[in-house]
Amino acid sequence: MSDSPVWHPFTQHGLGEPIPLVTHGEGAALYTADGRRIIDAISSWWVTTHGHRHPRIMAAIAEQAGKLDQIIFAGWTHEPAESLARGLCEVMPAALTRVFFSDSGSTSVEVALKMALGYWLSRGERRDRIVVMQHSYHGDTIGAMSVGARGVFNQAYEPLLFDVATIPFPVAGAEQRTLDALEVVCRTGPAAFIVEPLVLGAGGMLFYSSTVLAEMRRICAHHNVLFIADEVMTGWGRTGTLLACEQADVVPDIVCLSKGLTGGALPLAVTMASEPIFQAHYATDRARMFFHSSSYTANPIACAAANANLAIWRDEPVRERIADLARRQQGWIDSLAGQRGVRGARVLGTIAAIEIEGEDGYLSDLGPRLLGFFRERDLLLRPLGNTVYVMPPYCIDDADLGAIHAAIAQAVEAFSS
Ligand SMILES: *Cc1c(COP(=O)(O)O)cnc(C)c1O
Repeated sequence: MSDSPVWHPFTQHGLGEPIPLVTHGEGAALYTADGRRIIDAISSWWVTTHGHRHPRIMAAIAEQAGKLDQIIFAGWTHEPAESLARGLCEVMPAALTRVFFSDSGSTSVEVALKMALGYWLSRGERRDRIVVMQHSYHGDTIGAMSVGARGVFNQAYEPLLFDVATIPFPVAGAEQRTLDALEVVCRTGPAAFIVEPLVLGAGGMLFYSSTVLAEMRRICAHHNVLFIADEVMTGWGRTGTLLACEQADVVPDIVCLSKGLTGGALPLAVTMASEPIFQAHYATDRARMFFHSSSYTANPIACAAANANLAIWRDEPVRERIADLARRQQGWIDSLAGQRGVRGARVLGTIAAIEIEGEDGYLSDLGPRLLGFFRERDLLLRPLGNTVYVMPPYCIDDADLGAIHAAIAQAVEAFSS
């Protein structure tokens, strides 16, 4: 591996850890060149919802590849994008009437922030402050990092990050502190509040209640602060419902979607916005158009994959699969009650997480040691420090899920202190 020119993301090459070569995938499993079958316990970093190589998505990609690969999207259009936009408007909250395409979660966040500032500028108000929640993650580009938690992972770029207002994470029992802080900062007239609904993913699989989410939305609406829901991870059923916001009856002004949008097969993202945000950019004045594009905006093949994802949601028992996985995860978490070495066992929809008692923090030694432990057991699990979470594709069977849960029990045994 050391002669490979590949520079991997979030990888310290100096540690010389093995980097498995994966040759194919099927359902909840990945297969390596050296003949191992790996269970994908984290949906290949939260993207693979229906399993690897879902036949319907693969067929849609192949079919679209026979027609049109790529076309400029400024001033041109194509059927896969048109039907995807219509399909999204059908399943997403009715107030989100406009669909802006891009190619990654980070970019969908950048787009959301730019839309929010454009909205205020068109109303003749210079609002540019963004409110964020402590421990949030919104991506790794400069703007997305700016609205995310600061730490060792972005310390080097700190001078380039813009200033934001941060409200505390709503720890159970201290939710009012969060709501009060939001209320206070909203009175100062910020442009928008961006938040991951119900689950802070990269921040450590931290859950908070739908009541808090609903209250935060109410406060923003009351003070005319745009509410941006970053559903890049939580969207597409992860928390048990299509959007996490549904569980709080919350309709955001802007929602960011990516990861499961194509079922995890190809990179694609959308930023969906309410009509007033679109109208703020609508004029005969070219200086007021929305100035954003990436080369692969609404790539036809990626849109075809996303249309297949919508069809799967429409035609297959996806909700039943999610409910069934959620039940099995809940059963596991329940079985851990009072278990020595385990803290904070929790489940929300298809996501289950625990903390192994010991040293905390992203750079704690425990993280890489656990990573190696699970890799040796043919499991793709990637703990966040001492937080071990399971977020598999919805098609995972009992045997594979049981193997993941059993290996975590062994890890608790081996590493807790
Ligand atoms: C993964 C993630 C992003 C970034 O998405 P990329 O496609 O990796 O750029 C943004 N927000 C949340 C909540 C995420 O989980």
